[in-house]
Amino acid sequence: MAPEDGSTEAEHRSVSAAISLWREVGLTTLSTSEGVSVPVRFADAAAVFHGVYEPSSGMVFINRELDGAERDITVAHELGHALGLPHVAREERASVMNPGNLTVLPSPSDQAALQRLWDCAL
Ligand SMILES: [Zn+2]
Repeated sequence: MAPEDGSTEAEHRSVSAAISLWREVGLTTLSTSEGVSVPVRFADAAAVFHGVYEPSSGMVFINRELDGAERDITVAHELGHALGLPHVAREERASVMNPGNLTVLPSPSDQAALQRLWDCAL
């Protein structure tokens, strides 16, 4: 996962923070540089729009107006989509993959969902 050229220092830090959030629950193969990378573009967007993963291009787009923990969590959420995770309804459980999530960090149950998806030690 790598921020595009032209991203600010703070945006770079959010990409690193999002990767750290997933690594903390055991997804230790993620990095900012090794192997296949997901490009991250920080762009102007309406406030209701937090971020999106676009499967056709393999790109993550993040609303440039977000900052701090909200931006970190949005990047972590879109990275979850890039890795194949669907949304998890709030009624089901608190998850980084809750729709529109700006507050819930990746949890061991999110990591377990990835593990089930890929049937391997990520
Ligand atoms: Zn989503």
